[in-house]
Amino acid sequence: MLELEGVDVAYGKRRALEGVSLRVGTGEIVTLLGANGAGKSTTLRAISGLVRPGRGRIVYDGRDITRATPDAIVAAGLCHVPEGREIFPDFTVRENLLVGGHTRFTAQAIREGLERAARLFPILGERAHQRAATLSGGEQQMLAIARALMARPRLLLLDEPSLGLAPRLVREIFRVVREVNAAGVSILLVEQNARLALRLAARGYVLETGRVVLEGPSARLAEDARIRQAYLGGL
Ligand code: ATP
Repeated sequence: MLELEGVDVAYGKRRALEGVSLRVGTGEIVTLLGANGAGKSTTLRAISGLVRPGRGRIVYDGRDITRATPDAIVAAGLCHVPEGREIFPDFTVRENLLVGGHTRFTAQAIREGLERAARLFPILGERAHQRAATLSGGEQQMLAIARALMARPRLLLLDEPSLGLAPRLVREIFRVVREVNAAGVSILLVEQNARLALRLAARGYVLETGRVVLEGPSARLAEDARIRQAYLGGL
């Protein structure tokens, strides 16, 4: 479904990614792990067209999207939930969802999208007319995911969905991620919580200073001494 081949990205003179290659199969959950500044968010930004690779190729659903615009990429069914949610604080919950549904052209598609969001996250249905700024951090994360789902993605990029959330909310978010995946959406998940991410994903990649240094099935990564030391508290 998604393939990166030898992707380099630089911010001015600062090289953020070097020769990154990775793959997400149809229906898979794949996780991307790494320390702060390793290049995880940059990888997602390159995929969704927000930064341009200097070298390499990104293929989505058989189509080269390396130079495609972000709106064309969303329209093709590839949606990005950025780190820090980036919801519109002065819009209501419903208005935020409608923004996410801007690629859907019929009233019925939008109605179905809103109903699906309320089913996945009942709290968003209850708070439909509340300003998004008044939601808790966890509810804002739910809204960010629900907004992306309004576009009916086939591949979802999730950047640190558990960041700063209480364990109960993290469980709730991961429950929905699992449910969304079970409904046929492939997922590339960036997560600081390596333990949870490796439990959810079938496979993973580890980035270090812009390069993939390890990859493999989650069970194998969870056993890897380097991963245990760096990301699983040495357990
Ligand atoms: P974190 O978990 O802290 O978000 P990350 O693995 O997602 O880290 P990136 O945000 O992709 O890492 O950053 C990779 C490198 O690129 C870092 O050295 C970072 O300082 C740099 N970088 C990221 N965004 C920019 C930018 N807009 N301008 C300049 N440098 C940037």
